[in-house]
Amino acid sequence: MNKLITSGLLFIVLTFGFSGLTESNSIKAQAKSEISECRYGQCYATAQSTGYRCRHCVSNNGDLYCWQHR
Ligand SMILES: [Zn+2]
Repeated sequence: MNKLITSGLLFIVLTFGFSGLTESNSIKAQAKSEISECRYGQCYATAQSTGYRCRHCVSNNGDLYCWQHR
């Protein structure tokens, strides 16, 4: 009985522990692919001049766009 509980716990730890690990890794990778040098994040607008995403930082927490793209 004890052995069953132990192996059950081990299974849970391995399953959830591992999925938690891969999840945090994917979040890290996602944060890395996003440019994370900004304190509150990068502007989500597309720059008309280049066609790429605006590289400005937002100035307030929760803002999606920089001062130029409001
Ligand atoms: Zn912008």
